[in-house]
Amino acid sequence: DNAQPKKPKWIRVKAPGGKGYAETHKIMRENNLVTVCEEAGCPNVGECWSQGHATMMIMGEICTRGCTFCNIATGRPDDLDAFEPGRVAHAVQKLGLNHVVITSVDRDDLTDGGAEHFAQTIRAVRHRSPKTTIEILTPDFLKCDPSVLEVVVEAKPDVFNHNLETVPGLYLEVRPGARYFHSLRLLQRVKELDPSIFTKSGIMVGLGEDEQQVRQVMDDMRAADIDFLTIGQYLQPTPKHHGVDRFVTPEEFASYEKAAYGKGFLMVSATPLTRSSYHAGDDFARLRDA
Ligand code: SF4
Ligand code: SF4
Repeated sequence: DNAQPKKPKWIRVKAPGGKGYAETHKIMRENNLVTVCEEAGCPNVGECWSQGHATMMIMGEICTRGCTFCNIATGRPDDLDAFEPGRVAHAVQKLGLNHVVITSVDRDDLTDGGAEHFAQTIRAVRHRSPKTTIEILTPDFLKCDPSVLEVVVEAKPDVFNHNLETVPGLYLEVRPGARYFHSLRLLQRVKELDPSIFTKSGIMVGLGEDEQQVRQVMDDMRAADIDFLTIGQYLQPTPKHHGVDRFVTPEEFASYEKAAYGKGFLMVSATPLTRSSYHAGDDFARLRDA
């Protein structure tokens, strides 16, 4: 039975449009950049793009993994484009971003998982826009030598984000090819290598987990010294993807947010429409100014 629960009224989104949206769209196309906002069919694209916030996705549009919640195509990826870091830097400058989020597909085909390409992109953005804070949302580098992480950390992103995506019990079903404790350990190592970098992670809810499991993930994250947390409602991109188990109520989200601050996270976003990159810049600026 594939019947899906009906979308509740709190999952309401603004349709894309307007001047700011068009401008963001134009800059992305001119620089031949891929955005996760479009690829993932993010419900916040209307709001984010009208404010010039976009999450750029580097290293191509094809992923070597096939997470069952994700709308990105799986297959053999394209060759890395040596000019891409420069184009990302150009777009960031044109958009005049205070904060940028850069993510990528998973590249199990590359020996370094794309670590050097990430580092080059960070350096290129830094060079052109020294005041822009840089958040990267990385793959797990599972098949790589652990030393590749140092390459990324040495480029000094302001925020190192890597999503756990779901509770450990659902990994096989939802995130095959990834390992829960490997991902946790990755974030812990970033903190050990450079404590000045903020670490961040997130999960989706409504995939089949229960409240107790969500709270356990928060504890695991704090034990790995993770600073920021995002929790959002999972939405099914197409009927072929993992089904929505339930729509978590705004009250339950609020209780997660409260619990998370109690556990010591510095910054928490837990709402139905929270995405890893949703309001990332505003939240980060607030924290820095506090
Ligand atoms: Fe893009 Fe993130 Fe905004 Fe979604 S929440 S539109 S992925 S910047
Ligand atoms: Fe999607 Fe990332 Fe999984 Fe690839 S690794 S399928 S981009 S969630």
